[in-house]
Amino acid sequence: MFLSLKKKARVHSPWIYHFHTGGCNGCDIETFATLIPRFDIERFGVKLVSSPRHADIIIVNGPVTKQFVPMLLRVYNQVPNPKIVIAIGSCALTCGVFNRNGEENYALAGPAEKLIPVDVCIPGCPPKPEAIIQGIMYAIQKLSSL
Ligand code: SF4
Repeated sequence: MFLSLKKKARVHSPWIYHFHTGGCNGCDIETFATLIPRFDIERFGVKLVSSPRHADIIIVNGPVTKQFVPMLLRVYNQVPNPKIVIAIGSCALTCGVFNRNGEENYALAGPAEKLIPVDVCIPGCPPKPEAIIQGIMYAIQKLSSL
C-alpha cells in the first residue's frame, strides 16, 4: 500500500531537477517559461526542486561540456530510482550549433545520451514551452509505468 501511495504521489506531483550542462541558455529560458502563469506547468503538480535527491525527473539543457561530465554523472546517481531523464533542445540531443558541420568540438564530451540514459527527447533550438510541457507530460506517463 505504501508503495502504491508513493507511486501515486510521484505521478501526480513529479519533482524536477533542472541541470544546465552548457549551451546558450535559450533552452533554460524556455524551460523556466513553462512556470509562468501563461503556461503554468505547476497545474499538473510539477515542481522544480533545488536538490537532485528530491527529484523524480532530471531535465538536461545544452551540450555536455567536458567540465560538466563528473557533475552530470553525480547528479544522475543522486536522483533516486525510478527516474526519468529529459533532454531539451538540439544541443542536449546532438550538441546542436556547437558541433559545427559535424566537426567535433574540443570542449564537449558529447550530447547527454552519450553519458547517461535519456528517456525523453524534446528537439528544437530552443523548443517552445508548449513542446516542453508535452515532453514533460510524456515523461510523467513513462514514470507511471515504472
Ligand atoms: S538548442 Fe539552441 S537555444 Fe538550446 S542551448 Fe542549444 S543553441 Fe541554445
